[in-house]
Amino acid sequence: MRDRNPHLLILAGTAHAARLAEAAQARYGTALTVTVSLAGRTESPETLAGSMRIGGFGGAEGLAEWLRRSRVDMVVDATHPFATGMSANARLACDAVGIPRLVFSRSPWVAAADDRWRAVPDIARAAAILPQLGARIFLSIGSQQLAAFAGLRGVHLVVRMIDSPKTELPLADYSVILGRGPFCEAAETDLLRGERIDAVVSRNSGGNATFAKIAAARNLRLPVVMIAPPPPERGQYVETLEEALQWVAEKAEGGEH
Ligand code: NAP
Repeated sequence: MRDRNPHLLILAGTAHAARLAEAAQARYGTALTVTVSLAGRTESPETLAGSMRIGGFGGAEGLAEWLRRSRVDMVVDATHPFATGMSANARLACDAVGIPRLVFSRSPWVAAADDRWRAVPDIARAAAILPQLGARIFLSIGSQQLAAFAGLRGVHLVVRMIDSPKTELPLADYSVILGRGPFCEAAETDLLRGERIDAVVSRNSGGNATFAKIAAARNLRLPVVMIAPPPPERGQYVETLEEALQWVAEKAEGGEH
């Protein structure tokens, strides 16, 4: 038996991570210590249930050291499906420390009959086909990989970001609009129409929080350049909050692993 409350670390940065933190706290109160970790990519992150910590751990070794020091008993990797570095580090660190890890993610969206998707394997291929698709392109892929679009000419990029960029973006022709999800379909449709958008670039992230722009593109019959997701990290995998809570219950109530 443990001589203290079990300690859950949730690797977060997504809507489903926030929901899990809230549900775990509602279910266990102080009987479960919940730490929620964010990378620190946004200036004013929303307040999450549990204790928040912000910033990288220093690779897999840094995370392993942090897990030992903080006496973490279980980790739920609820990061974004494209956050592959963090997920790999979580697997390595949990294996090194010998604690259980769950991947809580979501499956990619599937095109409906009236969708006009152009499926591409990666961001470079997305950039390459844009000139065929129109003059004004909507990009909401985060700020980290915009450099892939640096060489584009003759295309105006409307870039949605959470925070105002501190420096010029590495793009030839662009404008920035600010916004933080979740977004609604009606507002996204108005936005794409108002900005006279010809095509949308999206990562196929699955889930509800950012689907509204895909539904909006469907409403307007716009092409969506859809970047395929990487395969999920190895290990036990669930997609629903109920399954994630069930896993936490098994680990928390089952005593030492
Ligand atoms: P990444 O490339 O997999 O991670 C890069 C590094 O950022 C990691 O090695 C780690 O640094 C740090 N990091 C990432 N997630 C962290 C977390 N939850 N807590 C503490 N450190 C974290 O990830 P990314 O694609 O940059 O995404 C960063 C965060 O934004 C993730 O938490 C993800 O859930 C969220 N997010 C990402 C996207 C996306 O499109 N990729 C979209 C929405 C939200 P150290 O090696 O120093 O530990």
